[in-house]
Amino acid sequence: MMSSALLKLFRSTGSYLLAISRHSIFRPHSVRGISIPKTDHERAAAARDLLKAAFGERVITADDPTSRPMVALTTPWSTTCHLPSAAYFQPVSAAEVSTALSIITKTQCKFAVRATGHNPNPGFSSTREDGVIIDLQLLNDKSFDPETGIASLGAGNTWGEVYTWLEGKGRSVMGGRYEEIGVAGFVLGGGMPGFVNLRGMGCDQVRGFEVVLGDGHTVHCSAEVRPDLYRALKGGGSNFGVVTTFYLQTYPLLKTQYTVSLYKPDDYTNIIEASVAAHKEMETDAQAAYFTNVHRDFVAIGQLYADTPEEEPKVFEPFRKLESMMAPVVPKTNGTLSTLAQAIGHRPPKGKRTIFTISTKVDKDLYLAIHQIWQDITATLPPSSDGTDLHYTIQPVTASAARAGRDNGTGGNALGLQEVSQNWCVFTLEYARDGDDAVHQAAMDRLYEQVKKAAEERGLLLDFVCPTFADKRQDVLRGFGEENVGLIKEVAAKYDGEGLFQKLQYGGFLVRDL
Ligand SMILES: Cc1cc2nc3c(=O)[nH]c(=O)nc-3n(C[C@H](O)[C@H](O)[C@H](O)COP(=O)(O)OP(=O)(O)OC[C@H]3O[C@@H](n4cnc5c(N)ncnc54)[C@H](O)[C@@H]3O)c2cc1C
Repeated sequence: MMSSALLKLFRSTGSYLLAISRHSIFRPHSVRGISIPKTDHERAAAARDLLKAAFGERVITADDPTSRPMVALTTPWSTTCHLPSAAYFQPVSAAEVSTALSIITKTQCKFAVRATGHNPNPGFSSTREDGVIIDLQLLNDKSFDPETGIASLGAGNTWGEVYTWLEGKGRSVMGGRYEEIGVAGFVLGGGMPGFVNLRGMGCDQVRGFEVVLGDGHTVHCSAEVRPDLYRALKGGGSNFGVVTTFYLQTYPLLKTQYTVSLYKPDDYTNIIEASVAAHKEMETDAQAAYFTNVHRDFVAIGQLYADTPEEEPKVFEPFRKLESMMAPVVPKTNGTLSTLAQAIGHRPPKGKRTIFTISTKVDKDLYLAIHQIWQDITATLPPSSDGTDLHYTIQPVTASAARAGRDNGTGGNALGLQEVSQNWCVFTLEYARDGDDAVHQAAMDRLYEQVKKAAEERGLLLDFVCPTFADKRQDVLRGFGEENVGLIKEVAAKYDGEGLFQKLQYGGFLVRDL
């Protein structure tokens, strides 16, 4: 039986269970009878005109005399994704998303879905002029049910907005570490919260989704209703529909203690040793989290604790022993998730960015080998003064974090995490807007191949590739394991029978690429 509280929530936010959109798919402007144009550009133009006719001002196009087209264009975090789309449509309801999908179906136009555009892979939440974007930022409703502790969040919300709002109610939710990133892309890609060891992944916090399917129907899913869709969405991304509302479990206000300090990069052997030692300690202290972010000119170590103890937590002792500290950039602070996100977040200048991630078991010698590879490749890049920064981050995940999704009574997620102590190491290359893509991408490709080989040779490479940190060429879905790939394929075929999200979606970690 579905919990009556969740039923109540579903009822309050949409039409109950079957929740077939109450609005006619083609209202207010019929697109029946349209003949499908031949080229992608013509199809995008046809979709743009129909969207404009249906929704007027909420469709941003290049001929708008205000600055809105420029703002829409330049929203993505990486300037590699500042691509001019044929149109940016900003729906205010699931019914409007449904109408947009109908127009896309009728015109057979390519499209992308965008929450905040923080994914740096071009084409994931951006398109060129041969496609349109469904930009969800106006879907930013929030409501809270004190009976269940479940928050209903529109897909346009950011973590910063959600943390602040929930903390006003004395509640917390396990979301991203940065204020600006979107709830939507984070959760649908699994999502690694600041305190992943406490309650598992971001997607493990979901109790239900409201989804607009490719045929225009709006449906809900949970552990009891459409459990296959519910589980597949927990990591399976944009393969099945457009999620318009996330129902997330909240908890009593989480107090946090954190500090971020900079260390000398030439002390990397000791820093890596300390990172490995702290990770081992974390296996028995789920309240602890840290990151070790290695740059050419400094190493930033963030020590995060899900409580405000008087005494320094034992788990961070290895970091306290380091003698290479240059400066504390965030002195020890007692706060909350929202103050933590404000403290560690920063708004870097606009630039090009490309990322990839590798998951490995925890091993000092492997980390040292990776560091050496990173150093060698960094030496081939333009200097920091040119705006080039190739950095990597050690992100520790404990065995219990991997277990959390399976054990929380919601049927698990689609990520296929192995229950071992692991590091989701993320490599990020940031470079100037006029930087040479071919040169920078070639360096990243070499780095990827060599790091992967180093882990493989030692038998320490894990199949899992965290979707939120992955390069578009990484085999993300296969990394979830055979059973989950089967589930994702089945669910995509069942809920998107016409294959709209496979055929016309611009990019993503999609079944079509398996
Ligand atoms: C500064 C920074 C900090 C970050 N910190 C973390 C972190 O702590 N933990 C972590 O796991 N990740 C982190 N990330 C990665 C981030 O979670 C991913 O880039 C994520 O994809 C961003 O989601 P978004 O909604 O903001 O982005 P978008 O680029 O808008 O969307 C990402 C993908 O999700 C799809 N999508 C978005 N909304 C929907 C929807 N409603 N329905 C269907 N598909 C949808 C898009 O089509 C796209 O493929 C960080 C990224 C940055 C830039």
